[in-house]
Parts: sequence; C-alpha cells; structure tokens
Amino acid sequence: MTGAIFLDRDGTINKDSGYVHKPEDLLILPGVIEGLQLLNRYKLFIITNQSGIGREYFTTEKFLIFNNLLVRKLNENNIIIENTYYCPHVPDADCECRKPKIKHLKEAEKTYKIDLTRSYVIGDRESDMEMGRRGGCKTMLVLSGHIKKLHNNFSVKPDIIVNDLYEGAKIITESV
Ligand SMILES: [Zn+2]
Repeated sequence: MTGAIFLDRDGTINKDSGYVHKPEDLLILPGVIEGLQLLNRYKLFIITNQSGIGREYFTTEKFLIFNNLLVRKLNENNIIIENTYYCPHVPDADCECRKPKIKHLKEAEKTYKIDLTRSYVIGDRESDMEMGRRGGCKTMLVLSGHIKKLHNNFSVKPDIIVNDLYEGAKIITESV
C-alpha cells in the first residue's frame, strides 16, 4: 500500500475567484506545476467541495468542463490526476461527501489501495485540515487561497504550513 496526495482544488491548485467555473478564469497558481512534478512518485487526487452546483450557480456539466480543462493542463505538464472527487451539495444538505467528511478519502483508499497514514491532504481551508486529521493523513496548509496569513487559532492545527505547493512538495520529498 502506498501513500497518496489529496489536493484541494480552488485556492490550492488554481486561483479561487469564488465559485470559479468559467474556463477563462482558470489560472494555475505559482509553484503548482513544479510542485506536482516533484511529487510524481505519488498518486494524485483532487477532493473538492463544489456547493456552487447545489446553489445552482453553475451546472455539473460546467463543473466538469472546467475540471477536465484543469486536469488536461496538468497532464500537458506530465502531471497525472488519478481521479477528481467532488461534493455538489450545499452545506445545509448534511450529505456524506462534503469536506471535512472523509467519504471521498475512504473511497480512494479502497479503490486505489492507498495507505492513508502515509498520505498528505493539501488544502487552503480548515475543512481540508479537518478531513485529513479525521482520515489519519498528514495535513498541509497552503497560504495561497482562503487563508493568507499564519495565525494561531486554527480549529485543527496543520502539520505543515507552506506559502505555495512547490515549497510543500520539497518538504514532502525531503521527508522520505
Ligand atoms: Zn456532498
């Protein structure tokens, strides 16, 4: 069983302009390509909350078009995303798949035979950190999205805090 990297999407891989879904708004953040290339020994997954679908800000089809474009751009840089798991529900729906719930982590664990204890969850929000903690993964906060500054009142203290994904990838590769 091998470790994997579970990536949040908006604010971690691409710029989060708020319910981002238009192809013309797709902007991959600095350090992401270089960082993910460094992590090529790991299986890479995206786990993303997309309540914009449930809120009817955009459709599932629009989400998929945007996401496929992102995955293809990464692919052109020799970065393979094994799967994208997304929650389309609004927070109030109390579904089983919205982060910080770990349904998608557990699905990947089972389908791809992933050792969660040797895996990292990387994201820009506390819900990412909480999901990682609940799943037994190491947690890494990137200050490229929702949280811009280091502070001390995290509900779940991240294991590692970095400015961008390249910095984070170097820490991961140097730790094994
Ligand atoms: Zn859901």
